[in-house]
Amino acid sequence: MIPANEPLTILHLYPREMNLYGDHGNVLALVRRCKWRDIPVRVLPLEMGDPFPDRVDLVFGGGGQDSGQARVEEDLLLRGDYLRALVEEGCPALMICGLYQLFGEGFVTESGQMIRGIGAFPARTLAGDRRLVGNITIETEAFGSVTGFENHSGRTFLTGGRPLGRVLSGSGNNGRDHTEGILYQNAIGTYLHGPLLPKNPKIADFLILTALQRRDPSLCALSPLDDSAEDAARANAAARPK
Ligand code: GLN
Repeated sequence: MIPANEPLTILHLYPREMNLYGDHGNVLALVRRCKWRDIPVRVLPLEMGDPFPDRVDLVFGGGGQDSGQARVEEDLLLRGDYLRALVEEGCPALMICGLYQLFGEGFVTESGQMIRGIGAFPARTLAGDRRLVGNITIETEAFGSVTGFENHSGRTFLTGGRPLGRVLSGSGNNGRDHTEGILYQNAIGTYLHGPLLPKNPKIADFLILTALQRRDPSLCALSPLDDSAEDAARANAAARPK
């Protein structure tokens, strides 16, 4: 297990600008699930202009208004090489909605403004004429059924990688091809807010286990937790009308 003086380090990108519909709860879920297992953990918030961190084991970023995305654009681009390298090296990452779009090639807003992305994900996004809003359930190969809440004007089209899942109800990436999100290396991009991880603990544990395995490749599983409350929350959310 990892020493207490080298805790598992979660880099939280732009918590001030990019945090919608409970996205911060994802970080709380990751921290809790580490603590319940006595895994030392710390969260490093990264705001615009902050220095680059020394060591990162897991990257998280939430959603934002178009205006918030435009505000972080320049700073994010400065960090493009660093973040792309982390993704390519297999560092686990979870990017929700606004930062999912900006981890791709970019996002053309409804007013025609291009907000450039860092191209860590093979995906591009164009705004549509109506927002895609509501509860969403998807079926994934890796994590079974996953439920969340979406609210975006962007339509995302993958040019590589694999979709995170197939839409059972809701809109997903673009409301057309029934795909939702992306799984690329060990990084996940998704439109699901809610927050996602408290009620989809398999995804949380995938991120934690992958982070630990990069330090100790002999580790093959995390100690199990009682997920009955989390599973009930997911079933409850999935049963709600769109
Ligand atoms: N502003 C983006 C869009 O509308 C992202 C929204 C979000 O993060 N919820 O598509």
